[in-house]
Amino acid sequence: MSNIYDLVIIGSGPAGLSAAVYAQRACLNTIVIEKTGMSGGQILTTTEVDNYPGMPGIGGFDLGMKMREHVEYLNGQFMTGEVTKITDQGEIKELSMADGSTIRTRTVIIATGANHRKLGIPGEDTFTGAGVSYCATCDGAFFRNKTTAVIGGGDVAVEDAIFLARLCQKVHVIHRRDSFRAAKVLSDRLLALENVQVHWDSVPLAITGEGSVTGLTIQNKLTKEEETLKVDGVFIAVGMEPDTARYKDLVDLDPTGYIIADETCRTNVPGIFAAGDVRTKQLRQVVSAAADGANAVYSVQRYLEEGR
Ligand code: NAP
Repeated sequence: MSNIYDLVIIGSGPAGLSAAVYAQRACLNTIVIEKTGMSGGQILTTTEVDNYPGMPGIGGFDLGMKMREHVEYLNGQFMTGEVTKITDQGEIKELSMADGSTIRTRTVIIATGANHRKLGIPGEDTFTGAGVSYCATCDGAFFRNKTTAVIGGGDVAVEDAIFLARLCQKVHVIHRRDSFRAAKVLSDRLLALENVQVHWDSVPLAITGEGSVTGLTIQNKLTKEEETLKVDGVFIAVGMEPDTARYKDLVDLDPTGYIIADETCRTNVPGIFAAGDVRTKQLRQVVSAAADGANAVYSVQRYLEEGR
């Protein structure tokens, strides 16, 4: 029986790492499976996380590393691999891995977060890596003294534009409405920058170039006027979507693909839990993902002890 875990945590972002801390403290025989061997999830590419209590201004990468160190300090175990399928065999869940191996466990916490949403416009795929990027903190430095565009109006788009404005000669922000979704403190900071031009009520139509990006065609939704901006880079920040297609036959998903689970992190399948950005929830933040990790392990313990 020694090859059957009490708990397998899939994903090592804030939800998975928080769950690992709680699982170690609960003395559950646990393993964390991560795809790349780099912990932190989305915050790895966040310049600054300014709203995690007690850590003002901490870099996303540093916060991810601190969370991983905490798990290691408690002797938590990690493995690198990709789960392709989970089979519910009742008391035992079997995980199929991309390398052909299988892992057996009594419970699973799916904490795989979400990926960058794509726009689906011409040129997006062609120029990805050649001027089109989904991560300003990763790729911004390539555009020093150049002109870039950021698409989106949420926290990420506005933070990205502020970051790029420090490096670039000019930054265009293209947003489909007439106000930002981002926090007001961020929006005000962006709107005060002289080298930033916001194109309100506008949508991107196509990214053009030869070898690399040279232009972005946008349309004003109200006037229907089209314009091609001369840009060297396009940063797409239009939100995230969960990578849950592989679990659609296992657990209930909402119409946008998030795993249906409440604050207890229980899915419709006993023994399978969902924590962090991958589940249906009001607010997807580091602090709420970390809270999910704790709640999920509490639910795991109740399931292991009481059957539900
Ligand atoms: P988000 O808040 O969902 O914002 C996505 C933005 O992209 C919205 O402005 C949306 O427009 C726009 N958009 C979506 N689809 C589009 C399309 N097809 N074409 C054009 N525009 C489109 O996503 P996010 O900015 O990636 O943030 C994700 C989560 O992380 C949020 O909960 C955010 O608060 C959180 N976050 C927090 C911090 C922080 O607190 N420091 C930092 C980063 C992220 P509409 O506004 O019209 O819907």
